Parts: sequence; C-alpha cells; structure tokens
Amino acid sequence: MAFQKTGQQSMWIQTVRTFMEDHHVESELKNETEQLPWNIRQASGKAGLIGLDIALEDGGAGLSALTMGHLYEECGRYGLNTREVIGAGHGNMIAKFGNADQKKRYLPRLMSGDLLVGVGLTEPGTGSDLAKTQTFARKEGSNYILNGEKEFVSRVNEAGVFIVFAQTNTEAGARGLTAFIVDMDRPGVEKYNLEPMGLKGWSYGGFRLHDVVVPASNRLGEEGEGFKIFNTHFGYWRVLMGIICVGSAQRAIEQAIDYSKERQAFGGPIGRFQSVMHKISESATKLEAARLLSFKALDYLDKGHSNVMEASMAKWYSTTVAYEAIDHALQIHGARGYVIDYGLEQRLRDVRGLQIADGSTDTLKSLIGRDLMGKEIYDAMLGRTAKPKPAEKELEFAG
Ligand SMILES: Cc1cc2nc3c(=O)[nH]c(=O)nc-3n(C[C@H](O)[C@H](O)[C@H](O)COP(=O)(O)OP(=O)(O)OC[C@H]3O[C@@H](n4cnc5c(N)ncnc54)[C@H](O)[C@@H]3O)c2cc1C
Repeated sequence: MAFQKTGQQSMWIQTVRTFMEDHHVESELKNETEQLPWNIRQASGKAGLIGLDIALEDGGAGLSALTMGHLYEECGRYGLNTREVIGAGHGNMIAKFGNADQKKRYLPRLMSGDLLVGVGLTEPGTGSDLAKTQTFARKEGSNYILNGEKEFVSRVNEAGVFIVFAQTNTEAGARGLTAFIVDMDRPGVEKYNLEPMGLKGWSYGGFRLHDVVVPASNRLGEEGEGFKIFNTHFGYWRVLMGIICVGSAQRAIEQAIDYSKERQAFGGPIGRFQSVMHKISESATKLEAARLLSFKALDYLDKGHSNVMEASMAKWYSTTVAYEAIDHALQIHGARGYVIDYGLEQRLRDVRGLQIADGSTDTLKSLIGRDLMGKEIYDAMLGRTAKPKPAEKELEFAG
C-alpha cells in the first residue's frame, strides 16, 4: 500500500471539497434539526457523487475502496451528517448483490440522488446477535410475506427502500437469514420515530412489518445468503464510518491548534502549556494511526482479501480516538467549546453514535479476539458448544 495519495485520489478529494463548499453543506447542516437538506443529496446525485463506489459497468465511477476512504475522511471534516452526501451507502448491497433486473430498477434512482437506501438489521429483541433475528419471511407463491420489527434504524423517513434481513430458515440461525429489498410504501409497513442524541442528519426510529408482501423478485441473493451479504457490505461500510469520524476529529484538532495559538492566558498563548500541546500531539498521532489502519483495511478489500480483523480494528480504534480528540479540542476551547455555535459538542455527539452503530466497539474487539485467540475461546465466550462451521471469516455481529 502506498502512503502517498495518488493524483486521482487528490483530484477526487478536491471534487468533494468543492461540492461541500459550493453547496455550503456545513452551514446548511447547522439548522435547528441538524437534518441534511434533501436537495443537497439530489445535487450530489446530479454531480455524479452518489455513484462513486458503484462499478463502471453499472453506471458509476468505480472508485476503489481506498479512494472512498479518502473521500469519506474529507466528508467528515464537514460533519458526520455528510455520510450520505457521497457514495451509494447501503445501496451498495444492491449494486454488489443485485441481479440485472434489480440493478435496473433501483440503481438509476439511487445514483440520481432520488432514492436513499436504509438497512434493517436491529430489532427490539436483538442487535449484535444476528442469529436471534425475529423478523420472518414466509414464501407464498411468487411472494414472501414479511412479519417483524426493525428498531433503532437510521433514515426511516427518507429511505424509499430498506434492505431488510429476515429469517427464512429458523433452524439455521444467522445462516438462515435472507436479505430483501423492501419498498417502504408497501401496505403493512408501519414506521415510527425516535429522537437520537446525535447523527440527526437523517431520521431515526423503526418500522413494523405486518404481513408485508414482497415479490420474490426483490429477494437479494439466494435464501440464506443474507449473512454473506451483511459480511461483505459491513467489511466496507464499517471502515468508512470509522474514517469519517477521523475526518471530523481532524477538523476539530485543527480548530484547537488555531485557537491555542490565539487565546491568551497568563501572559501568552495557551498552546505553550504542555497540557494543551500534548493533547494536540497525542490526538494527531492517534488520528494518523487510525487513518493507516483504515486505509489498510480498505486496501485489503481492493486486493480481494478478507478484512474482518482489520475492519474491526479500524472502526473501533477510529471512533474511539476521534471521540477523544474532539473531547480534547472542546477542552482546549474552554467555555467556548461548550457553546453550540462552535460545533464541537455536535461532533462529539455524532461520533458517539458510531461507537454503537454499525458494529459496537465491544463486539468489534470480540471479533479481533477471535482472530487472535482462536474460535474455541471465542465460541466459549458466546456460550456455544457445537463446533463452528468452516473456517470462513465473518464479521458475525450486526450493524
Ligand atoms: C446512531 C445509530 C444508528 C443506527 N442505525 C442502524 C441502522 O440503520 N440499521 C440497523 O439495523 N441498526 C442500526 N443501529 C443499531 C445498531 O446497529 C445496534 O445498536 C448495534 O448493533 C448494537 O445492538 P444493540 O443496540 O441491540 O446492543 P446489544 O447487542 O444488546 O448489546 C448491548 C451491549 O452489549 C455489548 N455486547 C453485545 N454482544 C457482545 C459481544 N459478543 N462481545 C462484547 N460485547 C458485546 C455491546 O457492545 C453493547 O455495549 C443504529 C444504532 C445507532 C446508535
């Protein structure tokens, strides 16, 4: 892996930066609700930025995972609510696993910025433990009938489509999971909202599925392939969610550097105090380490390697050091840091959410432990007695 950005990567970073500046994304996000205006996403679609990580043959730009990492870091500078401004997001599952008909029906709308795709994994009764999913899909003729509930999901109001994970084989645990493309305007879908403490760029809440009829043509992949789809997608998405936090924290630290050079106390700038300077030095070092872990995890994907351990390391470490760095930046700003207008408290609230969403810090550490210490100890931790299935590497835990 090269440590220098390529010319193409620098060009794309500049493109994203120009888009963010031209559309005043940062100030647009400082509205009362912190919601991202829908027209910004549409403008991004028009500019070709939603399709950046969709393959060339499907009409996208076909950028590498590593390049997308650089771009998500850039987005993070403008706040974590930009995480749906570029890239296909969870729509990548359709782009990677959809058949020709599904791609034809959904990708053009996704890339134009008219369609947002959500993911429905978490339920009231289970989050990390996917095998305990209680949403069921029953086959009836050329349809599936879905029943269950997904809770604590993002984009519940805006996503026209959710990739819903449901059990089609109750005997098989996580391997009985199947993914469905569910149009959210289907009869029997009942949505509700919850108020999150951060990440308010998109709505948050849940939906109940009451005998929702989903055509078999909307099954993503084969029956029982849900776990594979989840694994593949989250090996990518988790790293992007880590690196976007790095971008947010990097910006906070730069703000803290400027402030510590200007703010005077006891006859000089506060930056001369070791307590201030070391917070900045330590944060910058840890953010750089997080960046390198993330780029390595993405480079593995580009080279076709499994990246379970690397993605887990990258996401937990990135979100952890980003939270710490933003907290340091806030402290360096003293009372000003506590004022909403400075934006640091929002960065802190937002990063906190990503320490839980898309694989919690603890479950990611457990996955790293599985690679380092072996499946036997790992299975004992989860109270499993049966021998595990083949040595295929999996992410195991839910989004
Ligand atoms: C802001 C936000 C956005 C979200 N968006 C979505 C979304 O769009 N779609 C969606 O499906 N879900 C979404 N989620 C839900 C998220 O994926 C789950 O919260 C997450 O998977 C954890 O599940 P849980 O909350 O049920 O916690 P639980 O699984 O009940 O875990 C509770 C605690 O126990 C720990 N724990 C559990 N198992 C282990 C283990 N094996 N090893 C170590 N520690 C463990 C966890 O780390 C956690 O601290 C979102 C959550 C948040 C906060």
